[in-house]
Amino acid sequence: MIPPKIFGLVGYPVEHSLSPRMHNAAFKALKINAAYRLFSLKEDELKVFFAGLKKNNIFGLNVTIPYKEKVMAFLDKISPEAKLIGAVNTVKVNQGSLEGFNTDGEGFLRHIKLSLGFNPKGKSIAIIGAGGASRAVGIYLSKEKPKRISFFDSDVAKAGNLVKHLKECFSAIEFRQSCSIEGLGIETSDLLINASPIGMKEADSCLVKEGFTRKKPLVYDLIYNPPETKLLKLAKSKGCVVSNGLGMLLYQGALAFKHWTGKEAPVEVMREALKL
Ligand code: NAP
Repeated sequence: MIPPKIFGLVGYPVEHSLSPRMHNAAFKALKINAAYRLFSLKEDELKVFFAGLKKNNIFGLNVTIPYKEKVMAFLDKISPEAKLIGAVNTVKVNQGSLEGFNTDGEGFLRHIKLSLGFNPKGKSIAIIGAGGASRAVGIYLSKEKPKRISFFDSDVAKAGNLVKHLKECFSAIEFRQSCSIEGLGIETSDLLINASPIGMKEADSCLVKEGFTRKKPLVYDLIYNPPETKLLKLAKSKGCVVSNGLGMLLYQGALAFKHWTGKEAPVEVMREALKL
């Protein structure tokens, strides 16, 4: 019997991940002899792990917190999108050469356009958080020519650097850095995104105060576990359309699957597998 090709997720920790469920269902549906595993690695284990991919029959990886930037050092080639974002979430082993991609931003964009019917063109957008996921989402939203994107991050320098980077890349769009969530202009925004980890823990407070929903923005929380954060609960109670990050997870996974296999991902099979 031919051993299965191995794919998997590298991060720390990774035990909570829904990716094995989604990718194993896709391999099964397309009768691909492959298995998706979790690789929970400490930082000092990364170098040896990446050097041993071929030996361990590993053909592709997803990368998550905290290694999306760090893995770039182990790759032979990085896509222009991943370079622009400054982070890699997908690695393809191509005849021994390691190629890095970033499918987070495109995955997010596909979800809001295809599933939620939101067209960013000309819209005003507020984003909480300016880390890796925010960079990916911010860049892909910017390609769609919104009117304005405002960022707030508790790390002021991080938000400042992201706004500077975006201004250099997309000169026709208005980018703002806010020094508070209140300063983001949510009341006049069409889309509010939480790209910070606040909301993952039960003890986390709600990111926004009541009364932010004058324009009833689409409220998108990149978090999918828990499925309804305090932010989403409040926004829903005020009549906003809301979404958690499960759709983004689905589409970024579908794009990664295509990079690895060259085949269109069976999106509906993967969506079904994600149902809890
Ligand atoms: P990250 O690189 O650590 O960025 C998160 C940023 O949020 C950091 O800059 C952090 O600042 C900032 N932050 C923390 N508390 C904040 C607050 N109260 N207000 C404003 N900003 C705050 O993490 P990431 O990779 O971008 O991920 C962010 C979230 O997106 C996570 O919850 C992750 O699970 C989720 N995500 C979902 C998907 C999906 O497919 N649905 C994909 C990627 C990521 P400090 O560094 O100073 O703490």
